[in-house]
Amino acid sequence: MMDVSQLISFDRINAAIPNAAVVERRLSHLRGVFADPHAYAGALEQGDPLVYSVASVEPAGGEGDLHYGIGKIMPGRVGQEYFLTRGHFHQWRPAAEIYIGLTGSGVMLLEHEQTRRAYSVDLLPDSVVYVPGHTAHRTVNVGDAPLTYLGIYPARAGHDYGALEERNFAQVVVVQDGRPVVLDREHFLASLPILR
Ligand code: MN
Repeated sequence: MMDVSQLISFDRINAAIPNAAVVERRLSHLRGVFADPHAYAGALEQGDPLVYSVASVEPAGGEGDLHYGIGKIMPGRVGQEYFLTRGHFHQWRPAAEIYIGLTGSGVMLLEHEQTRRAYSVDLLPDSVVYVPGHTAHRTVNVGDAPLTYLGIYPARAGHDYGALEERNFAQVVVVQDGRPVVLDREHFLASLPILR
């Protein structure tokens, strides 16, 4: 177990933290996450690239502690939709989180669990995004270089992926005329050709 009271230097380009646990998510791990199932199947036929990785520092401790991690999302798309993280609620719903952009160009999709209010915030280097409690959050790389960022959250937050598995996020981030745009999922799905 690493001693979090020590100075820990991280690598913002590779999103690496010495001795941190690393989770890697490849395209094949993200079935049902991207909006366009035809584009997803086609992309998988081409290979199974790394989509994102997260290096986390989550020592066992008291519930007043903080945990943190660095995420790295590779540049890429499935059809029109940019590479993204699965996204989650915190298991302990009141837990907020601070995201700090390190490199690259990103967008965060945020969605309140009860009100269903969905909105997006840019995630840029040297900028802070405050994710309130009770809010699902997904990070999207809209640039052509890796997106890296630091996330800091209460130790007792936990991660709940299951709550989003059926309904997914209400919005998608897709390329249109060479630029990223945020659209309602239903609107985007309706724009796809039916017969392909
Ligand atoms: Mn979180």
